[in-house]
Amino acid sequence: MTQNLERYHRQMLLSGIGEEGQKKLLASKVLVLGCGALGTVIANMLARAGVGHLVIVDRDFIEITNLQRQVLFDESDVENAIPKAEAAKMKIAKINSQVTVDAIVDDVNHTNIEKLAQGCDVIVDGVDNFETRFVANDAAVKLGIPYIYGGAVGTVGMTYAILPHTHNGESPWEQAGVATPCLRCIFEQAPPPGMNPTCDTAGVLGPAVSIISNFQVTETIKVLTGNFAAVRDKLLSIDIWENDVRQLKVARAYDVGECQCCKKRNFEFIDGKFASSTTTLCGRNAVQMTQKLSDGEKLNFDTIAKRLESHGTVKANKFMLQAHITDNGEAYELTLFTDGRAIVKGTKQPTVAKSIYAKYVGA
Ligand SMILES: [Zn+2]
Repeated sequence: MTQNLERYHRQMLLSGIGEEGQKKLLASKVLVLGCGALGTVIANMLARAGVGHLVIVDRDFIEITNLQRQVLFDESDVENAIPKAEAAKMKIAKINSQVTVDAIVDDVNHTNIEKLAQGCDVIVDGVDNFETRFVANDAAVKLGIPYIYGGAVGTVGMTYAILPHTHNGESPWEQAGVATPCLRCIFEQAPPPGMNPTCDTAGVLGPAVSIISNFQVTETIKVLTGNFAAVRDKLLSIDIWENDVRQLKVARAYDVGECQCCKKRNFEFIDGKFASSTTTLCGRNAVQMTQKLSDGEKLNFDTIAKRLESHGTVKANKFMLQAHITDNGEAYELTLFTDGRAIVKGTKQPTVAKSIYAKYVGA
C-alpha cells in the first residue's frame, strides 16, 4: 500500500488530505457526466489525484474542433473515430493504471441517471445543457449525492457545489450544518432555447473551461476527503477575459424558496416531465435523436452500411457507423451508435434530423 501511495506524496503533504484523505480518494467512485471540454479536464485531474473509480458517460465522438480545449484527446482519436468516453478510458489507463474507469457511450437522461449515479460519492457536471443538469440535480437530491455544477461559454464560466438536503437529514454535510440549495433553488427552469449564448454562437476559450473544471475538481476532492466545511457555498462566476470574478451568495435560496426538487422532493426531471427525444447539440450544427432499441438489441451496421453506400460514403467500426449523405442538395453527416441513438450533422432542426433518420435508417 505504501508503495502505491508514493505517487500521491505531494498531495498527501496537504493538511486537508494526508494519508487518510488519500485512502478515501482511492476508495471513492465519481460519476463524470459528459467528457467534452469540462469533462476531460475533470477526468484527467481526478485520475491523477487517485480517485479510484471513475464512471465517464458521454454520447459523442471526437472531432478536430474539440482538440482546442478537450485535453484528453489527440489527432489519432479524430482519425479513428473513437467515442469520447472510450478514448478517455484509454488515456487514463496510461496516466494512472490504479484507476478503474467505466466508459459509457450514451446520452444522460431521465431514464438512466439513477442507475448511473447509484453508488457514486459525487456527481460532476461536464454537460452542455440545462435539461441534463436538472436531471442530474434531481438524482443528486433524490439519492443524497453531492453534485458539482459547472459550465463555460465564451470567456465566462460558472460553478457551484451542491451538498443536497436529503430525505432524512442524516448526510455528513447536513450533520456538519453545511447543506446547500440545489440547482433548481437557484435556476428554477432551464433558460428557453435561444435565450442564452451557446458555444455555437459565442465560441469558447479553452482556459475558461479549464479554470472552471479545476474549481469543480477541487470541490470534488474536498467532498471526497470529508472536508465539507471547506466547500464554497457561493455561486462562482468568472470572466477570464475581463478579469471579472464574482461570488454570488445563494445560501438563502433554500430557506426562502419553494423548490420542487429539494424542498418538496418532487423530481419532475427524473419523472420525464420535461424530457425531449431530440436535442440540438451545443457548439455543433447537429441534432441528437434518442429513439432507442429495446434492451440488448443492437443495430446491424453491415446491413445499414450496404443500404447507405449508394447514397454516400460510409465507414463503420465496432462503436459507430458514419455516413456522409447528400439529400435534396444538402450535405449531412449521419452517425449511428449500436444502441440506435443517432447524431445528424448539417442541421439544427429536429424535424429535418428526424426525416433524415427515417429516410436512411428507418423507424
Ligand atoms: Zn432545491
